[in-house]
Amino acid sequence: MASNSLKRDLLTILNSNQIRTGEIDRRLYSYDSSFLATRNSFIPDAVVFPHATHEVAAILKYASAQSIPVVPRGAGTGETGGCLACRGGIVLDLSPWNNVDEVDTSNMQAFVRPGVVHARFNRQLSDHGLFFPPDPGSSQMCTLGGMIANNSSGLRAVKYGTTENYVLGLRIVLASGEVITTGGVNSRAIKNVSGLNLTKLFVGSEGTLGVITRARLRLWPKPAAKGLVMATFRRLEDAPPVVQEVYRAGIMPSGVEILDGTAIRAVNMYRPETALPEVEAILLFEVDGSPPAVEWEGHQISNVAVKAGGKAEWSTDPQRMADLWRGRSLVAAAAARIRPDGTRIFAGEDISIPLDKVAQALREVHRLSAHYGITVVSFGHIGDGNIHTAPVIDIDSPEEVERADALVDAIHRLAIELNGSTTGEHGVGLVRSGYAAIEHGAALQAMQKIKHALDPQNIMNPGKIWP
Ligand SMILES: Cc1cc2nc3c(=O)[nH]c(=O)nc-3n(C[C@H](O)[C@H](O)[C@H](O)COP(=O)(O)OP(=O)(O)OC[C@H]3O[C@@H](n4cnc5c(N)ncnc54)[C@H](O)[C@@H]3O)c2cc1C
Repeated sequence: MASNSLKRDLLTILNSNQIRTGEIDRRLYSYDSSFLATRNSFIPDAVVFPHATHEVAAILKYASAQSIPVVPRGAGTGETGGCLACRGGIVLDLSPWNNVDEVDTSNMQAFVRPGVVHARFNRQLSDHGLFFPPDPGSSQMCTLGGMIANNSSGLRAVKYGTTENYVLGLRIVLASGEVITTGGVNSRAIKNVSGLNLTKLFVGSEGTLGVITRARLRLWPKPAAKGLVMATFRRLEDAPPVVQEVYRAGIMPSGVEILDGTAIRAVNMYRPETALPEVEAILLFEVDGSPPAVEWEGHQISNVAVKAGGKAEWSTDPQRMADLWRGRSLVAAAAARIRPDGTRIFAGEDISIPLDKVAQALREVHRLSAHYGITVVSFGHIGDGNIHTAPVIDIDSPEEVERADALVDAIHRLAIELNGSTTGEHGVGLVRSGYAAIEHGAALQAMQKIKHALDPQNIMNPGKIWP
């Protein structure tokens, strides 16, 4: 569509300062954090900045009538091409719409607009002794709208669950422009089993079913104390069973993370002063709760790790805990250092594996890495089997990029073969839709029927989730 006529039409809905159609402006919206975005240029026809639900509704009504694709966007930190306009159309940049409308401390909930940045929200809640538990690594950048659309999580999901567990209700603009509120129109209840659970349907729908313009989120009391155990293992195989042993001991840590040998090497090359022990696996167990419970759990976890042949250090001192965490917090930035000309690509980076097959999955990833001649740095949320596998390649070598594509496909297929999933938290977007049929079987058709019922013209973020 010619940008001029689109702009003219959009000017009947929005002010001129809410619309961008210039080439440079539109190019700025042709990326997210995926490797895919560096290899393609999906440039939208227009970018708009709505500030009210009625504005979003008018845009969608217009787009439906004209069959123009509409792509909601938060901060663009997604790793799957989810917010890219792969079929052109209008990008809705919701990031400036970032009000926290209300924190209802008595009812342990908050009402927020889609563009609120996760870390800012938690800073605000901290003043009330509350927090919003999902905790993506992109916390300082990503929006709550993007988190809800992707059902994001992070290291605390092991104890607190994912974003879906904290969404009590949503205001959604459907493709037709109709506005609905899920979870009860005026409800402030925490429990609600009245009607179909539409809230769950929209959480994780990656912008394909409607636009989230307001969310009612459940809040949690901040735990009084925290502690951290770092356990090191000379053999990779010894580490995963320790996680299950800790659960058997009746302990549910707030986070359980792993760094494999490649991740340890990468961190030590990036920041030698971190001086992580050169072993095959490091496990980090974060525990939280009341001070005596934290103390007891920390000691129990250390004992379990030592019994399994590991070495363990345990601390509740904030400075020492920060030191012990340092390797894990640096690993994403450090991964590329594993080779001098390397770039860490976000592809095949989010597999989810049953707990009893994590060790096998990590070994298989090492084997695939050797087979394709590409280093893969592995780390992540072993507590719920969500492993981040980061291929490091020379992106200027077409031959190596081709090998990386084959490796990424093999990693995705490995996850499915081991009864896991191609994605634990980052989503499907454009890059994993090819696996939908194998992962979901006949359920895929049921998903497509729902999509068709809510968006018969397929204008909402087309090309995502489904092939
Ligand atoms: C360094 C780094 C670390 C990361 N760590 C984690 C992690 O630990 N856990 C994790 O889960 N993810 C992680 N991610 C991925 C990403 O940050 C999350 O998926 C995040 O929730 C995306 O938010 P966003 O605002 O950037 O959304 P975007 O990337 O802008 O959009 C993501 C998807 O949501 C849709 N969308 C956005 N806003 C709306 C809305 N209002 N209504 C409807 N649909 C909408 C988009 O269309 C798109 O499909 C990480 C990314 C990076 C770069």
